[in-house]
Amino acid sequence: MSIQQNLKKIKSLLPEHVTLVAVSKTKPVSDLMEAYNAGQRIFGENKIQEMVNKYENMPKDIEWHMIGHVQSNKVKYMASFVHLIHGVDNFKLLKEINKQAIKHGRVIDCLLQIKIATEDSKFGMTPDEASEVIKSDTFSELKNIKIVGLMGMATFTNDENQVKKEFDYLKSTFENLKLINTHNYQLNTISMGMSGDYQLAINCGSTMVRVGSSIFGARNYK
Ligand SMILES: *Cc1c(COP(=O)(O)O)cnc(C)c1O
Repeated sequence: MSIQQNLKKIKSLLPEHVTLVAVSKTKPVSDLMEAYNAGQRIFGENKIQEMVNKYENMPKDIEWHMIGHVQSNKVKYMASFVHLIHGVDNFKLLKEINKQAIKHGRVIDCLLQIKIATEDSKFGMTPDEASEVIKSDTFSELKNIKIVGLMGMATFTNDENQVKKEFDYLKSTFENLKLINTHNYQLNTISMGMSGDYQLAINCGSTMVRVGSSIFGARNYK
């Protein structure tokens, strides 16, 4: 099936309250343009330089989401245009995003990444660490960032019960952390679910799915 047909099929399966981020990492601009021409306006990338290159070569009404792990020293390259940063997992990074957002007179929306998987390789904060950051005085001084939700990546496994448990955990963490409310913190988004598990994620309360290979085909990492 073509990119256009894949997109149409996936969109028909998503409830209206669920946002589709088309994960286009490693794919050429021509593939992204095919999705764009089919109406897709939200794209997710996991490398900052690659996202910048695509941003420069594509229409300006696209919302660019950074879904990968972010190094503080690279925030400056995307601060002028990034729409949502999914993988924020430490306070130092939040401070840097705030600093770069000030330079561009923007408020940058962020999601806190919560570690829900059992694999050591996955990034993220514990719910307690997140809560500690949000309640700190220094956090309330960051006027150019806004935390709008949580993001999580489930363990890479065929065990659906395991994945469901992890999604349920993110959802309950969301409900708990949602009770905190400050000027730069208001949770409304749960980013969870990828090609293999987005339907399960939606059943568990996801409001934003990050789908790559089911739209663009398998990735070829050289
Ligand atoms: C690559 C990636 C995805 C998309 O994965 P698919 O299985 O191709 O849908 C989603 N989220 C993150 C953080 C990714 O890095």
